[in-house]
Amino acid sequence: MDMPTAYRSRLIDAGLLIPTGVDGLFGRSGTFESIYDGVDQAVTAVGAGAGAEVMRFPPAMAQATFEKTGYMKNFPHFAGTVHCFCGDERSHQKLIGRMDRGETWTDEQEPADLVLTPAACYAVYPVLAKRGPLGDGGHMVDVSSYCFRHEPSQEPTRMQLFRMREYVRIGTEAQVIDFRGSWIERGKAFADALALPYEVDVANDPFFGRAGKFMASSQREQALKFELLIPVNDGAGPTACLSFNYHQTYFGDNWDIRTPDGAPAHTACIAFGMERIVLALFKHHGFDVAAWPAEVRSALALR
Ligand code: AMP
Ligand code: ZN
Repeated sequence: MDMPTAYRSRLIDAGLLIPTGVDGLFGRSGTFESIYDGVDQAVTAVGAGAGAEVMRFPPAMAQATFEKTGYMKNFPHFAGTVHCFCGDERSHQKLIGRMDRGETWTDEQEPADLVLTPAACYAVYPVLAKRGPLGDGGHMVDVSSYCFRHEPSQEPTRMQLFRMREYVRIGTEAQVIDFRGSWIERGKAFADALALPYEVDVANDPFFGRAGKFMASSQREQALKFELLIPVNDGAGPTACLSFNYHQTYFGDNWDIRTPDGAPAHTACIAFGMERIVLALFKHHGFDVAAWPAEVRSALALR
């Protein structure tokens, strides 16, 4: 067996992941979801006392909002757009005929003005922009949504649809830089509490194309992104389970979000890849949840 897929096979054989026939698209068992719920409340505990405003979003966003994020410039290869049938009865008959004959039928679907959400924090910026200038303390949001990225893979940690939970800080440069520094420590404490081995390293996003190479190296040089990496897949490098991103004034400029003195806001986010954390827990503590270390069970509020 191909080494990187060994863990995938074990997860499927144990019924924790339910294959759908599409790489990176899985159902999950009750046991998997009970650990997911434990991780979710542990992530809530990470933000205790921070006064974050809770926002939850569906897995799609308005096309106009998506366009403003600039995502198609940097990651066109990951994006998924939603298209629907908008025709009359004649075109419906034509569509059914093409389907029956096994022909392509999706090319006549029309845009539904929706795009699948690529990152949970993208939904937050337009909401804050509408509220006008920030207060003196800036703002903090606890956001989550399903996210889509078209990156089919045999690695169980690389899904096409997965859940992302984020804390997003919006404010002055000093407020946001302070947040990112101190929340990297909170992220490490989170992994310690779950008894997961990790390393934190500077990282870059997989920007598209030749211009993307420059974007990636500039992101690394300026240390705008860090990741907390945990070994999960057999025979492969460690997997980014948390990421810490400093966007400078990119979203503040894009959305015209301003600090009280009228300057564009700085933003940063800490993102938890929820399924990846669950998969890391099964990898390091085994499939018998009852036998997990007491402190891990306690951090996950398992009874
Ligand atoms: P990113 O915006 O790429 O930093 O992603 C935020 C977090 O989501 C990462 O730290 C990962 O834990 C998680 N993530 C990213 N891509 C995937 C994927 N394809 N499947 C599962 N989790 C992912
Ligand atoms: Zn984010």
